[in-house]
Amino acid sequence: MGIRSVQHPQRVAVIGVGILGAAVGWNLSRQGAEVILIDAGRPGEGVTDWSFSWVNASNKTARKSYFDLNVAGLAAHRELAGIIGPDSWWYPSGHLRWSDDPAAQAKVLETAGLLTDWGYRVEVYSGAEVRRRLEPDVPMPGDVPVLFYPDEAWVHGRRLVGRLVDQAAASGAELRSGSAVRDIRTGGDGSVRTVVLSDGNHLDVDIVVNAAGPGASHIAGLLGRHLPMRREPGVITRIDCAPVPVRRPLHAPHIEIRPDGDTSMVLHSRETDALIDTGEDPAQLGRQLHEMARRVVPELSSSRIARTRVALRPIPADGFPSVGAVPSVPGYYEAVSHSGITLGPVIGRLLAAEILSGRRDEMLADFRPERFTT
Ligand SMILES: Cc1cc2nc3c(=O)[nH]c(=O)nc-3n(C[C@H](O)[C@H](O)[C@H](O)COP(=O)(O)OP(=O)(O)OC[C@H]3O[C@@H](n4cnc5c(N)ncnc54)[C@H](O)[C@@H]3O)c2cc1C
Repeated sequence: MGIRSVQHPQRVAVIGVGILGAAVGWNLSRQGAEVILIDAGRPGEGVTDWSFSWVNASNKTARKSYFDLNVAGLAAHRELAGIIGPDSWWYPSGHLRWSDDPAAQAKVLETAGLLTDWGYRVEVYSGAEVRRRLEPDVPMPGDVPVLFYPDEAWVHGRRLVGRLVDQAAASGAELRSGSAVRDIRTGGDGSVRTVVLSDGNHLDVDIVVNAAGPGASHIAGLLGRHLPMRREPGVITRIDCAPVPVRRPLHAPHIEIRPDGDTSMVLHSRETDALIDTGEDPAQLGRQLHEMARRVVPELSSSRIARTRVALRPIPADGFPSVGAVPSVPGYYEAVSHSGITLGPVIGRLLAAEILSGRRDEMLADFRPERFTT
């Protein structure tokens, strides 16, 4: 795909530099737009750094169009790795899932059947085969069926954001980190005009992209728009260990485990997430995750907890992404989504094309911001 220069470059403020903002900004700047990347903190250190970060479509069967978007997300990651290079962020390792509970196991196999019907690659192994061929340090019952999704992956989100920001800067993008957006002003015709930062600076812009993750509802509110979002916190624990005894993301019974580099791993569990709002100390939740992980992978017995953090998933109220122009506020666009690690590159590409050409891609038809307009 060739790089097109726009005839009349537009000045775009991208608010939030997690995976979504970085992907939108990178796509825009390499096509000639004048981009200002704004983050209240440091790029890539929001939810993007505190995510299970599993690139998948196997967990996205709620709606076929959402599954299709996630399949496009996997392809967009592969394409991006080809363009910017895969090193230090892209790990196309495949993903394993198994269960110790017969009812849950039946459900997992039923989902695998549906995915196969939809043309998604899944292989079924015995636990013994998995240990022999894929995960030598993960004991599992020899006869339990284990699903292997070979096209799935994990991503080091913070490093990917760093790479995209560096490349966007090389194409002329400006980065303003440590500056929160305090206000967005509109002109007489209602279109966005000025972004006001916490450091007192006023930026005159033609376009604003709201990629503020869990802060997206607040940014929308600055323009009088109501973007309803769910409150769904998750707890992530990083552990230090060397060598790392797991080679890919695992959905084991009760716990999700993935590598996070050469000396680090990430742990997560929906069961632990359910305890966050009971007032349980996050450090205690981290210890629970560590204990569950050590039960699945005994090699982790000497590993240590490095850090635990509770992060809010950026989820619009109906559970699906909100991506595209908001026609009632000319110049204002949203890029807000859960599964943003999987979807960042595809949303970045589609939204940049929409901003530059006005073309609304059919793939986003079910995920338009207008559905929240009352
Ligand atoms: C526990 C957990 C597990 C997850 N697992 C997965 C998974 O396995 N696979 C997957 O695909 N997705 C997963 N997700 C979801 C995924 O991590 C997110 O969808 C994605 O990281 C969102 O990226 P973002 O760029 O929208 O948000 P962020 O990374 O949070 O970036 C938003 C940025 O906006 C900035 N910001 C906010 N307000 C302002 C303001 N007023 N002014 C300036 N800047 C502002 C913040 O500082 C932040 O850097 C998970 C999420 C959680 C919490």
